[in-house]
Amino acid sequence: MIARTSRMGVLKLIRLPLQAVIVGFCLASGGLLAQTLPLSQNLINFNSAEGEKLLLESSALKDYFPLSTQFVTQKNQAYCGVASSIMVLNALGIPAPEAPEYGSYHLFTQDNFFNTQAQNVIAPEVVAQKGMTLDQLGKLLESHQVKAEVHHGGDVTLDEFRTMVVKNLQEPGNFVLVNYLRKAIGQEIGGHISPVAAYNKETDRFLILDVSRYKYPPVWVKASELWQAMATVDSDSGKTRGFVLVNRR
Ligand code: CA
Repeated sequence: MIARTSRMGVLKLIRLPLQAVIVGFCLASGGLLAQTLPLSQNLINFNSAEGEKLLLESSALKDYFPLSTQFVTQKNQAYCGVASSIMVLNALGIPAPEAPEYGSYHLFTQDNFFNTQAQNVIAPEVVAQKGMTLDQLGKLLESHQVKAEVHHGGDVTLDEFRTMVVKNLQEPGNFVLVNYLRKAIGQEIGGHISPVAAYNKETDRFLILDVSRYKYPPVWVKASELWQAMATVDSDSGKTRGFVLVNRR
């Protein structure tokens, strides 16, 4: 049976165009079909023995559980800010609108996030094309009964950044979103937004719950590298990226 399948497979390969042959090879080889991109050496995959250990040894992980409960994949390649925001709004328990796809249940989704006030900040169609800046992220969040404290990366030292974010990660009921340049931490490639869920003191690393789950797993990144990646200039705003501390009003 195996020999017959194999011979048929060979016959099929001969008749197929080159691209299909390559795809067929990838399917057969398994390892080449990884769904997420490989990580550079400076990052630690959360879904690994080492990544797990860093969480178990973390003393600043209050936000991990509510955020992981609400962890979603961004619905298009520019919606990282929207996906990150709804995770935080749902984790905070902010009164949500109805989500038509769930009948009478209320939940923030990437489709109902843009209420009238948010649409006045920036239109969803524009965000779907080019994403959002850090200041727009803060204003969009404030369209939803939360206080968003925006810090640009170029305005804070590494120590200030670490102190503010670690304090938040030790407190329940408030959250941190980071806006950083992927390239600066060894990823592909542009600006990105995701929630931070925990801190490991011994390794001085933050856990980013990356909302582009089709592209990268959650990673532990060195505080200094994340800080540098936030101190990069976003060409849309002309300002540095940074982070947002989100609290109930
Ligand atoms: Ca917190």
